[in-house]
Amino acid sequence: MTTISGNRGPLIEEPLIFEQATPGRCGVDWEKPAAYEDRLGGLRKKGKIGLPDIAEPTVIRHYTRLSQKNVGIDTVFYPLGSCTMKYNPRLNEKTARLPGLSQAHPFQPVSTVQGALELMDQCAHWLKVLTGMPAVAMSPAAGAHGEFCGLMAIRAAIEARGEGDKRLKVLVPESAHGTNPASAAICGFSVESIPANDRGRVDLAALKAKLGPDVAAVMVTNPNTCGLFEDEVLEISKAVHDAGAYFYCDGANYNAIVGRVRIADLGVDAMHINLHKTFSTPHGGGGPGAGPTVLSEALAPFAPVPYVVHDDKGFRLVEHAHESEGKPCGRLKGFHGQFGVMVRALSYMMALGADGLRQCAEDAVLNANYLLAQLKDELTPSFEGPCMHEALFDDRFLKDTGVTTLDFAKALIDEGFHPMTMYFPLVVHGALLMEPTETESKATLDKFVASVKGLARQAKEGNSADAFKAAPIYAPRRRLDETAAARTPVLRWKDQAAE
Ligand SMILES: *Cc1c(COP(=O)(O)O)cnc(C)c1O
Repeated sequence: MTTISGNRGPLIEEPLIFEQATPGRCGVDWEKPAAYEDRLGGLRKKGKIGLPDIAEPTVIRHYTRLSQKNVGIDTVFYPLGSCTMKYNPRLNEKTARLPGLSQAHPFQPVSTVQGALELMDQCAHWLKVLTGMPAVAMSPAAGAHGEFCGLMAIRAAIEARGEGDKRLKVLVPESAHGTNPASAAICGFSVESIPANDRGRVDLAALKAKLGPDVAAVMVTNPNTCGLFEDEVLEISKAVHDAGAYFYCDGANYNAIVGRVRIADLGVDAMHINLHKTFSTPHGGGGPGAGPTVLSEALAPFAPVPYVVHDDKGFRLVEHAHESEGKPCGRLKGFHGQFGVMVRALSYMMALGADGLRQCAEDAVLNANYLLAQLKDELTPSFEGPCMHEALFDDRFLKDTGVTTLDFAKALIDEGFHPMTMYFPLVVHGALLMEPTETESKATLDKFVASVKGLARQAKEGNSADAFKAAPIYAPRRRLDETAAARTPVLRWKDQAAE
């Protein structure tokens, strides 16, 4: 049996390092320790610590092979949607590792970290220039944290208006990322969802019907999670402001419009920018990230502490509300935020320049539309018309084939591609969300298209459901119980466990 691409998934079986151990074997020769006095008051560990006995070459092969099993942007095409940038130039990693930046400590006297503070100030400056917004809170540690920051500022603004006990509701489109309603709820608001229209955008009439004196804010993602630009965004922000509420924009997909759209022109009051999705920083495995939140004139006074200021004595941090000229909504972070991520972001911005950033956005959109155009006849696009940085399909093309979105995704692994995002967003049935990344060449996209089209044909020809259900056959493992792995992880080697 061959695959369409000719690729065969990684096949080497890799036992656990404990299973490769041989009792008594050792990678190094230790000298017997000289006699010493036990200063632990009899608490010294006496039993074995349970590390595997293993030789150096075995260790090296083991970890080198494990590293090669790490499917990622460095090894394969990676069309995972809803996580935006996947290519992170190595230059930014090098910059972030410069000792003066990587080894600075937040407790150092301000006079010794002038460069670090200036860097934060510069990064903030360019975020304000790019978005056209007057203020930015740099401390949020992720997108979700930025949402929380924006909503805290909104709550503070509403309380300052004396409407704190009236405006207790936040409206969120049903296609929103799960963090949006969660952030609103944690901030003490009740959440109501706004339906999507048949074009995959916010239903403006339904939104207007829900707006009233009880609404604090409306949260809209733009481009939204269906990969579409909310083309009625100006009407949305006007309606929100007319109702006395604030307009929150989820900017996780900002990489599709950076350099093309000034966020301030859309009437936005607050928007988090996932630096790790638009301005470099690899963000697999849950972190790190950063979610600086830009704020409008109306919300700027409520920005949280700390923030960097510059005067004739140099740079310093405003750490406490009483030192601030505004009315800070609070503090979100022990120190000042994810400094290393800011270093990468500034490095990325300066390396690319304004024209480069704009071109990244344009290429991301071009690549996604190329996939959409190539696949639209074989697959079923969820909505009509061009997309932004990701192309959304649903599972109508798999109807009556016995093949599901999950089976289709698993078959892509055998083809040597990372699967697209599946079953998100929830507003379409059996979603397949493909985001190709701006740096992919046409040649790579064409190979992927050939495999996806070929698989779609195989599914539709019938009698292939069993083969799809068996996929992936070329990967070292087939269908893992991901829920069990997440809920009841086995983190301890049972036979050798330390006493
Ligand atoms: C990723 C994402 C978030 C959350 O960002 P984190 O940095 O993961 O907390 C919010 N909204 C959308 C649309 C996203 O894609």
